[in-house]
Amino acid sequence: MLFDTNKIIVQELPSLGNEHTKVSTLRTDLIHPIVSGNKWFKLRFYLEEAKRLKCNTVASFGGAYSNHIVALAASCKLNGLSSIGFIRGESCNSPTLREAEALGMKLHFISREAYKYKEVVMGEFANKGWFWIKEGGYGINGALGAASILLVKNCSAFTHIICAAGTGTMLAGLALGANENQSVVGISVLKNNFGLNEMVNALLPPEKINAFTTIHDYHFGGYAKHPTKLIEYMNQLYSREQLPTDIVYTSKLFYASEDLIQQQYFKRPANLLIIHSGGLQGNRSLEPGSLIF
Ligand SMILES: *Cc1c(COP(=O)(O)O)cnc(C)c1O
Repeated sequence: MLFDTNKIIVQELPSLGNEHTKVSTLRTDLIHPIVSGNKWFKLRFYLEEAKRLKCNTVASFGGAYSNHIVALAASCKLNGLSSIGFIRGESCNSPTLREAEALGMKLHFISREAYKYKEVVMGEFANKGWFWIKEGGYGINGALGAASILLVKNCSAFTHIICAAGTGTMLAGLALGANENQSVVGISVLKNNFGLNEMVNALLPPEKINAFTTIHDYHFGGYAKHPTKLIEYMNQLYSREQLPTDIVYTSKLFYASEDLIQQQYFKRPANLLIIHSGGLQGNRSLEPGSLIF
């Protein structure tokens, strides 16, 4: 079996907590060595819809190291669907893209300029009858899929649920899936992405509007930026807790969580659940030997 949600565990992280704060992580990265956990959850309902509409080809957009692209290729293969990836940049090659191709995805490279106008690209292929998914899986189906992350394990005892936020689809899903007593916090991995709350709210029903908080202080320079300090943190976290993280999302998430705990940001007593959303293949862009895991 390609994906196995039974492999997901709740791992306690004693070195992050203190006498007032218990810290655990939901290891959705264990679903699959390459496919990022949250992407699998976000895609599941889109693919069901594609099948319901009898579209047997699914198309989407992404960069050369996109977790979304490789997850889409793998999920389509598993569902017997064809996949097409529109990749930003004219001549890029990466382990991620080779993996996507090996999983049967057809790649179309488009210039960075053309990539800005996705509707134009979609228009050019409008007569193909493909099922289109937005970059990163943004959308209501994505949020509904992400809400099911909280059903894999009993998460009712946690006071706070914390995740990394790119498009905010997973954050919306967790806000949907959390109960009233739980606070849902998203750590933005993009710099100054202050439209994030609006993006999340657009996926939520009226009663869940603003049922989450976003924090913008832990982007480390911007999307996929990874200063030495972050790499050192990743190695240090791994030695403390045997917890592998990636440079784009989860390293910033865990760093932020630890920092916020130290600042006593979370109302005590707190029982935190940090969502390890996977995405370790993003580390393949690093110099070999940078990481100890
Ligand atoms: C895509 C991704 C995210 C961000 O999810 P959004 O729903 O776009 O906010 C977080 N973590 C990992 C590992 C991802 O691959």
